Amino acid sequence: MHEVSVVSDLVSAIINELKKYNVVSVEAVTITVGKLTNLGSEQMEFAYEIMTRDTILEGSKLNIEEEDIKLKCDACGYEGPAKNLDFGDSTEHFIPVLACPKCGGHVKIIAGQTCCVKNMNIEEAN
Ligand SMILES: [Zn+2]
Repeated sequence: MHEVSVVSDLVSAIINELKKYNVVSVEAVTITVGKLTNLGSEQMEFAYEIMTRDTILEGSKLNIEEEDIKLKCDACGYEGPAKNLDFGDSTEHFIPVLACPKCGGHVKIIAGQTCCVKNMNIEEAN
């Protein structure tokens, strides 16, 4: 399960970061997950709950925000969302086309392929 290793990295990064502060408790952690990462939010929440046991993060809520895919075209300068392959309306799944929707040129992915911590609600000791 891909989610487990991602969440495990995330949790240890957060715990390391929290060591810099005098944290009493953590209420919530908000992360952004790019749509290209193919990470399932349910699996991530589940992994998070297990991996934060007996840590400062135990009992904190994991908020997951999806980040849309954003492309930038080398050729025409297009910057914006990717076009998806059309499967009709029978599926929730989507496959983004990683080419420029305008000119079909080569694109760089500038958003949507990473998973990172956006913010944390922490309570610090005085
Ligand atoms: Zn283009």
